[in-house]
Amino acid sequence: MTEVPSAEGSRRDQLAEGLRSVGARIDAALAASGRDDRPTLVVVTKFFPASDVDLLAGLGVRDVGENRDQEASAKYAAVAHRADLTLHFIGQLQRNKAHSVVRYADVVQSVDRAPLVTALDRAAQAEQRRLAVLVQVSLEDVEEGDGTAEARGGVPWTRAQALADTVAATEALDLRGVMAVAPLGAEPRAAFARLRRVAEAVRSAHPQAWWVSAGMSGDLEEAIAEGATHLRVGTAILGSRPSHR
Ligand SMILES: *Cc1c(COP(=O)(O)O)cnc(C)c1O
Repeated sequence: MTEVPSAEGSRRDQLAEGLRSVGARIDAALAASGRDDRPTLVVVTKFFPASDVDLLAGLGVRDVGENRDQEASAKYAAVAHRADLTLHFIGQLQRNKAHSVVRYADVVQSVDRAPLVTALDRAAQAEQRRLAVLVQVSLEDVEEGDGTAEARGGVPWTRAQALADTVAATEALDLRGVMAVAPLGAEPRAAFARLRRVAEAVRSAHPQAWWVSAGMSGDLEEAIAEGATHLRVGTAILGSRPSHR
């Protein structure tokens, strides 16, 4: 009997190879920093079809990330393995999308301002569910009196603790920790060291908030060296995204 390689079979092989090579990078980075606590790998599936999510789930992936409400809500309605997946929303979020996101997301990693906290809390209460939340931190240098450093999203790191306190005081949101993207042009290791200090301050006030989501395809080693508990990796597993914003 001859086996006819199907397109889906080869895509499955590509994804398996991506997971294997990222897994090897994680192993090496853990060894280099003397860590034995493996971070959670959140596979970022934005711009890729629901069929990829099904293949990833079949390969053992349990955490996936999306950054746009419209795309994510449509895609995850179509995913057969949804019950096994933890869905992380990682994109900039408008308040009027809070209700939609609360219906399918398990975690919102990108909470960066108090009005969004209020909107998510109300939406979660209306849906009678609890939602895990990370405070997204901007790691840019903060100038004196400058509140507008949010080039890649996030509350200025000097105000992250206050926003974490706001999340912790809500009815339906569970503060789990902090998330950040290394600023463009910055040395990622130094940026993630700053995040680590912010994370430690948040955790000392809120012991349950121990997640540190940092590190993408290009800088996961630096994030692991600075204590990341969650990595968000897209390109290195799925390949180049089919289109860009
Ligand atoms: C797209 C995205 C990622 C994944 O980036 P890759 O470079 O493809 O690994 C991680 N975090 C956020 C917030 C993203 O938007």
